Amino acid sequence: MRILLSNDDGYFAPGLAVLAESLAPLGDITVVAPERDRSGASNSLTLDRPLQVWHAHNGFYYVNGTPTDCVHMAVTGLLDFEPDVIVSGINSGSNMGDDTLYSGTVAAATEGYLLGIPSIAMSLVGKEFANYRSAGRVAHDLVQRLARSPLGTPVLLNVNVPDVPYEAITAIEVTRLGRRHKAQAVVQGKNPRGETVYWVGPAGAAREAGPGTDFNALERGAVSITPLQVDLTHAQQIGDIAGWIAR
Ligand code: MN
Repeated sequence: MRILLSNDDGYFAPGLAVLAESLAPLGDITVVAPERDRSGASNSLTLDRPLQVWHAHNGFYYVNGTPTDCVHMAVTGLLDFEPDVIVSGINSGSNMGDDTLYSGTVAAATEGYLLGIPSIAMSLVGKEFANYRSAGRVAHDLVQRLARSPLGTPVLLNVNVPDVPYEAITAIEVTRLGRRHKAQAVVQGKNPRGETVYWVGPAGAAREAGPGTDFNALERGAVSITPLQVDLTHAQQIGDIAGWIAR
């Protein structure tokens, strides 16, 4: 089995190293990841400058681009093979609900999915990030399952794992995305020159976190697996908008 890994935290990130170690028993691992932290890069492609690839001492390739660039390049020309599966992560931090729209971790997997390859995004949910191995084991089991019983349809899985020892995980649940409240305000400050600068503030708290959502699963110490799709069409509004345009 040929497994391509990427992430958005950068090629040096501890979660990526654990992911590579965890999946090594299942096949040949190739890593193509950003040269620096590109968290929040979403599905962006770099179109205004050339991309370059370097080979790190541990065998990982790293690219001066986004997570999407990495997977796109890897699959469409850099590698001389097509991966059987793509796994992105393990992200240091959750990617639940609305996060999935901004996430570079999810974006790397989305790019694989758009290129027709089963793809999985892995994120570790917590503050300490002491248990990447738990997420590594979940990733291992999912990839092994994909190899043993392939799904008939293209698949994009968004997986969030609580930052606890594997034995403390309460369940593995298939969920839908919850929703967050509006993001918190930008944080304003001064740079050393006295100029005003802004940092994007934290994501909003969970708003729609009822039974069946990713937030709800994590709240109870369970792993959340959400199957994603890419079509953003608001199907129910097609008629409304058509009527509004015709008025
Ligand atoms: Mn990240």
